[in-house]
Amino acid sequence: MQRVILTALPGLLALSVVAQTSKPLVIAHRGASGYLPEHTLEAKVLAYEMGADYLEQDLVLTKDDVPIVMHDIHLETISDVARRFPERKRADGHYYALDFTLAEIKQLRANERINPKTGQPVYPRRFPVGHSSFQIPTLEEELQLIAGLNQTRGRKVGIYPELKQPGWHRQQGHDLSRVVLPILRRHGYITKADPCWVQCFEVDEVKRIRSELGWEGCLLLLTGAGRRNPDGSEAEHWFTPAGLAELAKFADGIGPSLGAIVTGRSKADRKVTDLVSHAHAAKLAVHPYTLRADELPRWADSMDDAHQVLFGDARIDGLFTDFPDLAVQWLSAHGKR
Ligand code: CA
Repeated sequence: MQRVILTALPGLLALSVVAQTSKPLVIAHRGASGYLPEHTLEAKVLAYEMGADYLEQDLVLTKDDVPIVMHDIHLETISDVARRFPERKRADGHYYALDFTLAEIKQLRANERINPKTGQPVYPRRFPVGHSSFQIPTLEEELQLIAGLNQTRGRKVGIYPELKQPGWHRQQGHDLSRVVLPILRRHGYITKADPCWVQCFEVDEVKRIRSELGWEGCLLLLTGAGRRNPDGSEAEHWFTPAGLAELAKFADGIGPSLGAIVTGRSKADRKVTDLVSHAHAAKLAVHPYTLRADELPRWADSMDDAHQVLFGDARIDGLFTDFPDLAVQWLSAHGKR
């Protein structure tokens, strides 16, 4: 339906992105990462079957310039790299994906996220570390998986690729965005009518993706309350009406941390900020990150409570969540699916 409207009335394209508020998007953060190791294909299949609208891909490059799906530029928090290639760490103690060929990365076993200093899981109640067998997928493998599922399951679940530290990649002599965008286009993700949002924390790169690299699809700037952007600017600039109007010139949405949407140390003193209404006035969608059942924001006492505040009160347009099933359930129960 959306595609038909866009084809007939391309001038309403920006409006249509924001007009999704009545049916907010469930974005599976690193897949169904509350249940299976993050960014494994298994976690993506589970999120797909839980009814997520979009599946997220964090992207970094290998030494041979293949985009792979993982959250950090380092390998040691989600794989057995330290055991398998102990001599390959840099002087700072990290094992960089960029120092390994794809053939080497395919020899690694992926696991639930650990704290590399202690070896203990970051989320103790999640999938057991070291159990079963998982790999780090390439972007290509994941896009093929989602396209195949869309064919066999008769749905059109979207993708949500994040370019991780593109400035750092360029310092190292690799151009992450220039490698990734042609792959997205080849898979049919080209315009804002296609189910793909490209996201990045680096504002200069978001501008470059739109201008120099000519990306015509949906584009979102990630930012966080109380922190600085990688370019040194203050994140709060983008939460002001002036900042949002500036952002709307080159992006379609903003991805703030949850703390920029709702403040407060407890349920009793929580407060919804003006960010969503200001963003909607600028015709920007708002997709905050990240809701976790095992790390609830202090202002919520349950996932239902958090969903009510974010979807019901704050009226966000989409949510990054480690537990997409719970968001789908809440939205279904409240007539928003
Ligand atoms: Ca991400």
